[in-house]
Amino acid sequence: MFGTPSGSLNITAELLGLSDVKVLDVRTNLSAREITIAVESTRKHILCRKCGEPTKPHGLGRKLRLRHLPMFGKETIIEIIPRRGRCEHCDGGSTTTEILDWYDAKGKLTKPLEHHLLFELVNSTVADVSRKADDRLSYC
Ligand SMILES: [Zn+2]
Repeated sequence: MFGTPSGSLNITAELLGLSDVKVLDVRTNLSAREITIAVESTRKHILCRKCGEPTKPHGLGRKLRLRHLPMFGKETIIEIIPRRGRCEHCDGGSTTTEILDWYDAKGKLTKPLEHHLLFELVNSTVADVSRKADDRLSYC
């Protein structure tokens, strides 16, 4: 069903709500309780973290596995290997690991999932959250 060119279901980056990527591969684990979706960046350039200029490709970073919003009631993992670039303008040729808008460098979750969980948390514990906000305010 997943990942085969003949499959009728085509999972796209738009469907996932992830920007600047394309889907490479969709697979399930043996128990089929988890879906892993491998994506790669479609951005043209990796911009230097220091000067903001486009960098030259400089290999790949460590593979990230980020939990995403569940699909079909299954745990869904987004897999991405961040690209690295090396700047020709900055002294010492500083390297930059590409980060896209929908995850943090050290995050375990995608931002759409984070926002979803936060939304649920706020809805279920509005009173609790506002009490904590009050505490913070009185602390100032
Ligand atoms: Zn630079």
